[in-house]
Amino acid sequence: MRHGQGFSDLGSHLDDLRRRDMFRVRRSLEGPQGREVLVDGRLLVNFCSNDYLGLAGDPRIAEAFKRGIDRWGTGAGASHLICGHTAAHEELEEALAEFTGRPRALLYGSGYAANLGVVNALLSVGDFVFEDRLNHASLLDGGWISRATFSWFEHRDMEDLDCRLNEVQHQPTRKLIVSDGTFSMDGDPCRLDELVALAKHHGAWTMIDDAHGMGVHGAHGVGLVDPDRYSTADVPILVGTLGKAFGTAGAFVAGEEVLIETLIQRSRNYIFTTAMPSALAVATLTSLSIATAESHRREHLAALIARFRNGTRDLGLQLMASTSPIQPVVVGDPSRALALSRALEERGFLIGAIRPPTVPDGTSRLRITLTAAHRVGDVDRLLEALGELAVCTAARCTRFR
Ligand SMILES: *Cc1c(COP(=O)(O)O)cnc(C)c1O
Repeated sequence: MRHGQGFSDLGSHLDDLRRRDMFRVRRSLEGPQGREVLVDGRLLVNFCSNDYLGLAGDPRIAEAFKRGIDRWGTGAGASHLICGHTAAHEELEEALAEFTGRPRALLYGSGYAANLGVVNALLSVGDFVFEDRLNHASLLDGGWISRATFSWFEHRDMEDLDCRLNEVQHQPTRKLIVSDGTFSMDGDPCRLDELVALAKHHGAWTMIDDAHGMGVHGAHGVGLVDPDRYSTADVPILVGTLGKAFGTAGAFVAGEEVLIETLIQRSRNYIFTTAMPSALAVATLTSLSIATAESHRREHLAALIARFRNGTRDLGLQLMASTSPIQPVVVGDPSRALALSRALEERGFLIGAIRPPTVPDGTSRLRITLTAAHRVGDVDRLLEALGELAVCTAARCTRFR
């Protein structure tokens, strides 16, 4: 116990973060999100957004947003259960249910809120939650605050998960297996077939957060959890976010009627918060139809990903097992990640240095993301810059200028 100290050590904690190159600063963009962004008066090619389909700045969606404001005004004025729920929300929920091939969908203000709200509504003391070690913070936090017994399995390690499920096989309480669909910092996919099989064998439910897969993978961008392959019995809880490939904001949960009605009755992050603006729902309806229809965006993105991966292999760089737009270059040390990010910025690229606690200690990285807005030449120039900087992955290589 540190009696009497109160909050007087806040400043020294910040100094400590600065000393270890772990201090975070926000960069203020001076223009819209897109292929290039204006930062400190300079245009930089943006290789760190989650705007995978290049829709965040799409004029058609902006136009729909404005139409939505003309029809619905700016604010929802209340929570969904009081008087903030509108026909615009209803229409978007129906479209998202159809998109995911599930009976119902429920809108949340953000992916963070959805994940916390779902896990916490379904689990309590005596239940069990099994989470991949590299799950998104919101999924982990949902598990922690639910007060269920928390079990962290090794990343994509189905044997480890099986062991953990076996340990509680005689417990009659609820068991929930939770995983990112595509992992947000590594870009690799979860082992969905095996997760589903294990869950069924152990009488558990599976919850997949496909924030980085929806819009990007599969026919019409349906994501990893293709309804032709995975029913609601396979994946009872599917979470998607709207601020990434769909280019707007918010999130949703899709599943059976009984799940959605349970969330409406019990999910605190749904109940005790103002509904998203209806105009945002109108805009998202437009972005959903663009995202599903314009497959050329997915095809272009896939070609860029392949080009980037081939190029990095030629440079001798080691990449992760990712075929998603997330292509991290792990350098290990936070100071090195920061120095590289700065060196790339000097060469005209915006790429953030991702450091602990966002990623585990010793795995600081450049989280390079590709989007459909990029041109082939952008990728080639990035590869050239990476080659010049002689980025070698893993801590063993320290050579870079
Ligand atoms: C970004 C992200 C979220 C959070 O979604 P927001 O709508 O930005 O709050 C949740 N889960 C995963 C896997 C994410 O990558």
